[in-house]
Amino acid sequence: MREQMVIERMLLGGRWVERQEYLQVMDPGSNTCIATVPKATKKDVKRAIELAKKGAGISKNLPVYKRQSILMGAAEYINEHQDQFVRTIVLESSKTVKEAEKEVRRCIETIRLSAEEARRLNGETIPFSQMKGHESRIGYITHQPVGIVAAITPFNDPLNLVAHKVGPAIACGNAVILKPSSETPLSALRLAEAFLAAGLPDGILSVLTGSGKEIGDELVSNEDVRFVSFTGGYETGVGITQKAGVKKMAMELGSNAPTIVLQDADLKEAVEACVDGAFGVAGQNCIGVQRVYVENMVYERFTSQFVEKTKQLKVGEKKDPATDIGPMISEKEARRVEAWIKEAVTNGANLLCGGERYGAYVTPAVLVNVGKEEKIIQEEVFGPVVSILPVSSLEEAVNLANDSCYGLQAGLFTSNIDAAFYAIEELEVGGVIINDSSDVRIDGMPFGGVKRSGLGREGIKYAMEAMTEEKVVAFRVKNSMKKTD
Ligand code: NAD
Repeated sequence: MREQMVIERMLLGGRWVERQEYLQVMDPGSNTCIATVPKATKKDVKRAIELAKKGAGISKNLPVYKRQSILMGAAEYINEHQDQFVRTIVLESSKTVKEAEKEVRRCIETIRLSAEEARRLNGETIPFSQMKGHESRIGYITHQPVGIVAAITPFNDPLNLVAHKVGPAIACGNAVILKPSSETPLSALRLAEAFLAAGLPDGILSVLTGSGKEIGDELVSNEDVRFVSFTGGYETGVGITQKAGVKKMAMELGSNAPTIVLQDADLKEAVEACVDGAFGVAGQNCIGVQRVYVENMVYERFTSQFVEKTKQLKVGEKKDPATDIGPMISEKEARRVEAWIKEAVTNGANLLCGGERYGAYVTPAVLVNVGKEEKIIQEEVFGPVVSILPVSSLEEAVNLANDSCYGLQAGLFTSNIDAAFYAIEELEVGGVIINDSSDVRIDGMPFGGVKRSGLGREGIKYAMEAMTEEKVVAFRVKNSMKKTD
């Protein structure tokens, strides 16, 4: 049965609004329009900022228990409407039913975590008497909300990555203006419904559905916006940092994540985890496995088992519960990935399986004999392609893993504790995953990268630290009991 096309509204300071101009939201699998959303303008951004100024005041003054109750209420709403959230993700994104169900469960947890962390936004005291002449001062630090947070999110996790910004922003008493991916804005609108149903006061949340290129500058460069939380590609991130001016920023950017498999590893586990980590969400995952470095002794065995397992993956219709891999986000992206595979093969690589494209679908591809300077190694593929490369030692593997402008996460399979500690020390990444692939994230852990993979860390507690300003208080007590000399 065909889905009916829906005309959506966007949220401006807590109120749903329509606009004459709209953007189409496509189902990448069928390439049909499933909804239209208002095309936000610069004027809408200015209005959202004006409303958010009032909203920030309201949010700051919400007692912590009320923030917690709103967050728990939003999580409960999503829990009760899981089917609707799953359906929305499956319709607008690349995700299969299995993948969407996982994302919805994680989103509920992310928002519950935000509610829990709200009560732990603690300060600290400072012993001012450490300097002579300051014996009568008492010092402490409080965390103040920054005010207005601009949250800009990508298409690949259209719900949970939005929750990773909205949840902590509300937990620490900010207002948020969210600009979701124009490819996948519907999940963000559903999330906003959850917050409104949970009683979020007007002014605290706006969801502007518009083109990033058209409204992004206005949003990130406005001086009233005090924090820009961006998740997306490196090039977009660079543009934003150049325009944002002097304000706090978090940049969660791309990667070409490596995983290393040593000869003493549990090979079966390594194969399973790497296949899963390489091809989930059709490879469109910032920590998805792109490069696997395998010690010579086990290289042939690993590669043949990897290919065998990859061939078992079912590519197809997202709504079918048996499907493992859905389409990429668009045919344009699928054509780019197809071209990168062809370029690597022309330059001498061997394609062991997959790599066929039809529409937005690319069958999972495994490449070997790929040169280390190849685009498919050096740049972020963001598609269902993995390269398996032999190495003669852990040192060589770590050097090759580090030979990248990115550094988000890396995986290592080994049963040797010394090898693990060497890799932990030497890998230039934000997270090292031992005995699993690079593709591991729990929502409470600090998450972020080094080099071109970004700035700052998400993970509720860490995002909340970033979305607040430390305010120091130095309190001079007259007639202090403390003697000065
Ligand atoms: P993208 O950079 O194309 O878009 C991300 C967001 O930025 C979208 O909402 C887009 O509309 C907006 N945008 C575009 N131009 C803008 C501008 N000039 N000003 C302000 N906003 C603008 O990224 P994408 O294709 O949606 O997502 C894929 C990328 O995201 C990959 O590189 C992936 O690695 C990265 N990513 C990183 C993480 C992480 O946590 N490190 C997580 C998921 C995805």
